[in-house]
Amino acid sequence: MRFGETYRSCFEEKVFHEARALKAEGVKVFGVYCSFTPKELITAAGAIPVSLCAGSEKPMEHAHLHLPQNLCALIKSSYGHALADTCPYFHAADHLLADATCDGKKKMFELLSRIKPVHVLNLPQTSVGRASLDYWVEELKSLVRLLESVTGNTVTHERLAREIRLHNAFRAKKREIYELNTGEAPLVTGSEIDVITWNTMFDCNLAERILEMDEAINHLKTRARDEGFLREMRPKPRILLTGCPVTNKKVLTIIEESGAVVAAQENCGGLKTLSSLVPEEGDPLRALARRYLEIPCSCMTPNTSRLGLLADIIQRYRIDGVVDLTWEACHTYNVEAFSVREFVQERCCRPYIQIRTDYSQNDCEQIRTRIGAFLEMIATATCRRAACAGA
Ligand code: SF4
Ligand code: SF4
Repeated sequence: MRFGETYRSCFEEKVFHEARALKAEGVKVFGVYCSFTPKELITAAGAIPVSLCAGSEKPMEHAHLHLPQNLCALIKSSYGHALADTCPYFHAADHLLADATCDGKKKMFELLSRIKPVHVLNLPQTSVGRASLDYWVEELKSLVRLLESVTGNTVTHERLAREIRLHNAFRAKKREIYELNTGEAPLVTGSEIDVITWNTMFDCNLAERILEMDEAINHLKTRARDEGFLREMRPKPRILLTGCPVTNKKVLTIIEESGAVVAAQENCGGLKTLSSLVPEEGDPLRALARRYLEIPCSCMTPNTSRLGLLADIIQRYRIDGVVDLTWEACHTYNVEAFSVREFVQERCCRPYIQIRTDYSQNDCEQIRTRIGAFLEMIATATCRRAACAGA
């Protein structure tokens, strides 16, 4: 088993080939821009979901033809790809599903609807209270009607229940990869987890994807018997990366190149979306609605459950320091950084740093310097904690 870019490109090619074959048979592809969209509904309609949040700097020049410069890089990159038709996943999508989350995304979706049909899922502003849940159930029913009309298939109770079980198994398997980092030495780097679990591609043949992840897990578990590997990993500070989705990898890469290991990520695609499963009993649509509404995203108000999740991860993954990634112009995560800093430093007693950046490479050296100083601070704090524990 090889990891890194070679693994990713082989894997992507395989998944791409599978999806293309299914599309040639007439299977519809739905582009998804947010973790609030329940992919279970798409697969229950016999279609393929594909995540379209982009991480490349390249399409910015196209995006800037229509969008302001001071907008989140994730939104601009995704839109730029769509406008220039440079993303094969976007190109393959028949229909786009757009959750009304942050303001930038909502307005970008209006422009996107000039390129492909867009269905907006109007998320409530809060996950608290029965009225929000009832409202979200109705939004999901309207999504089901759209999926049925585009695919010609019916989303039956049985099909949905089956897809919920499959997606739960997929989530649980991804979480198992993270769990490899809960022991006395981390067994897998954040970059490797990213390669194995990153989901900006077609979600087809999930059962096979689970088997592939199993193979990866078995390989990674052998590291627990490799003394050389353990000697190298034990002294590395364990970082929790939180905040905006890690669509662009520069901060993750810099942290690990600086000598730390990103033992856990609390963001979309990471433990934010893997920490709970959809209940498999009762009304499947309501169970789905409840579980998705509980995703602790900063677009929701209040979003206090994010703090509970952070505390749990810090404890479970033996985290030494927290890096909060904010894409420039992401107001919700930027404002929330104040409460996260306060919580991490005062309640969890861990060093915290916020990195505000975009997708460009211009500030890489500056980020490297800040991360280097942060890791030194962690080393001092860890020594102090150890001394306190020994006193
Ligand atoms: S961070 Fe929030 S808005 Fe962004 S993809 Fe995740 S759930 Fe959606
Ligand atoms: S990172 Fe922030 S601004 Fe960008 S799409 Fe996500 S929530 Fe919106």
